[in-house]
Amino acid sequence: MEISKELVDLLKVLQTKRCVCLLAPSFVVDFKYPKIIKTLKQLGFSKVSELTFAAKIINTEYKKQLKKTKKPIICTNCPSLVKTIENKYPEYKEYLANIASPMVVMGRFIKKHFKEKNTCVFVGPCITKKIEALENKKDIDYAITFKELKQMIDYAKKNKLLLDTKENQTTDFDKYYNDYTKIYPLAGAVAETMHAKEILSKNQTLCCQGPENIEKTLKKINKNTKFVDALFCHGGCVGGPGIISKKSIKKKENKVRKYRKDCKKIKIGQNLGKQKYATEISLKRN
Ligand code: SF4
Repeated sequence: MEISKELVDLLKVLQTKRCVCLLAPSFVVDFKYPKIIKTLKQLGFSKVSELTFAAKIINTEYKKQLKKTKKPIICTNCPSLVKTIENKYPEYKEYLANIASPMVVMGRFIKKHFKEKNTCVFVGPCITKKIEALENKKDIDYAITFKELKQMIDYAKKNKLLLDTKENQTTDFDKYYNDYTKIYPLAGAVAETMHAKEILSKNQTLCCQGPENIEKTLKKINKNTKFVDALFCHGGCVGGPGIISKKSIKKKENKVRKYRKDCKKIKIGQNLGKQKYATEISLKRN
């Protein structure tokens, strides 16, 4: 398979600079855990973090804002959804949360938390994240899809460019990740992982997936609505255009849920992130 010059150049960056991979948890649909962590380090990444830590921080911020406001809040994790509302349904713009996405929050955290200067590379299922990365250049340096990651891995294997040093043998996520937000890429998972029953009941939440359902969902907003948990793609990010797998949404969803269940049982990692590590990070959307 052909590989673009941009990806070849990115591979050079990975192997010459300190780069941190911001891995979206939907990776389990296309890659095996924990093997992917080793492969990413062989590609040249110095560290591999999972966006699940940013998801945990974001959940707390949503809870805080839900307690404060009487207005409905539309979740802004999905850039395609935000752009659709801004461009097609501007009358609902006032409900969009002023909270950055997990990709941006994780980039801010890494740039601030680690002493060394790091290049942040988002790897996920989403094409619109490329635009979001350009709009948040200070926080995110590159955004690539799982399809592109696979092309890079194949190219590096074929050209014997995979690194193999002792330091690269680790199979654990670097700082940080979180367990329960591993299902964040699924439709309705923000409300599910927020653990906010005391302030948000089921009938105060509207969940939406798929572009054809956005308008219908927005029209359902009424004085009882507190939270709109909406993602643009069918099934959420597991249905994103940067995913390789052609399996059904149900099968992809099962993989993500199994990944969370297995990780909770195994407790492989030592780098579970705590909320207090991220108190100085701005969570606002640009
Ligand atoms: S739902 Fe689709 S468009 Fe939205 S963030 Fe996920 S992959 Fe991207």
